Parts: sequence; C-alpha cells; structure tokens
Amino acid sequence: MKTIIPFLFLLTSQFVAIAQTQEQKIQEFEMQRQAAEKLAYNQLLDSAIQLSQSGEYLQADAQFRQLLRSAKSVPSDLVYYFGENSFHLGNFKQSVDWLNKYIQLKGTTGQYSAQAVERLKSAEEGLMKERLVESRQAGQVLSQDYDIDCGPSGKVTCPVCKGSTVIIKKGYVSDTYKTCPYCNKLGYLQCEDYNLLLKGQLEPSNTNP
Ligand SMILES: [Zn+2]
Repeated sequence: MKTIIPFLFLLTSQFVAIAQTQEQKIQEFEMQRQAAEKLAYNQLLDSAIQLSQSGEYLQADAQFRQLLRSAKSVPSDLVYYFGENSFHLGNFKQSVDWLNKYIQLKGTTGQYSAQAVERLKSAEEGLMKERLVESRQAGQVLSQDYDIDCGPSGKVTCPVCKGSTVIIKKGYVSDTYKTCPYCNKLGYLQCEDYNLLLKGQLEPSNTNP
C-alpha cells in the first residue's frame, strides 16, 4: 500500500499534465487556424482593392462578394471599397448604400471619408438619373419636363428664403444669418429663375457673405 499511493499520485499528475498539453495543443491549433483564416481574408481583400484600383471592377466585385459571404463582420476598408467599386459598375443604389454606411461609421475623420463623400454625390446623381429614366419608361409625366407658368406678374416668392431674403442656420451657441443666395435680397424670383431652381439648375450667387 505504501508504495502504491505515491505511484498512483504520480500516475494521476502525469495524466493531468498530458491532458493539459493536449488542451494547449488544441488551443494552439485553433489559434493557428484563425490566424491563417485572417491572413487569407486580408490577402483576398488586398487583391480585391488592387483589382478595383486598376480598373478591373468585375473581377474586384467577385472577390468583394466572396469576402462578404465569408464573414459576418465587415472591415471598414471593405465597406468603402465595395461602395466605390459598385459605382464604377454603374450599380448606383448599392454604391449609395455602402458609401453611406462608411460615412455613418467613420464620420468626417475616416481614412476614406473625403473620397466617400465626393463619390456618394456622384452615385446619388447617377441614381437620380436612373430613376428619371425609369419613370419616363413607365410613361409617367414629370413636372421637370415643363416650365411652370408663374402668372401675370412673372414673379414668385423665393421658395428658399420664403421671401425673407435671409437664411437662418440653427447653431449650438447661436443662430447664423446669411443672405439668401438665390433671390439677391429681393425675396422673389423671376419666373425663368424659378423654373431653373425647380430643376436644380439655378446657381446660387457666391457674392454673399
Ligand atoms: Zn431668397
């Protein structure tokens, strides 16, 4: 008995030690597997970005989609570049969606914020044109195709400042007042300018402070 107890003790501690190293090994394998997965993911992301930057938008798109399928959590670089690449493929709706997501995520301080804001403008224009074409194809009659008759005076109250000639911008501390850049301190627009404004073609004068 005296000799058996230490022997059993030795055996158990050896067994525990073996189990521990076994568990460590499994953990190590798991970590290595995750590291390899991450490396492959980043390599594919780099490749997709490079393809997009060199104008191979279709190939880039396929790789971006593969990345989006493989992980639920999307890195911000992918959010931006997928939006950018979608624009070049003429997929404006998708482009607007992802670029907006990037701007929501990063605000104005992200690595690609400036480009994202700029590209978003073009994508929104593209989307608007697309919708205009769709409406026309659907046989809808759009007011944009007509000039609106302003009546005998030929003048319309400026819809931007509502005739007040000033635009008030609400601020945190105080409000700022700016002269309306559309009606030239008059409070009204000539019919021709009014129609341009409705079509988004009236340029604001930049002589105002
Ligand atoms: Zn005005």
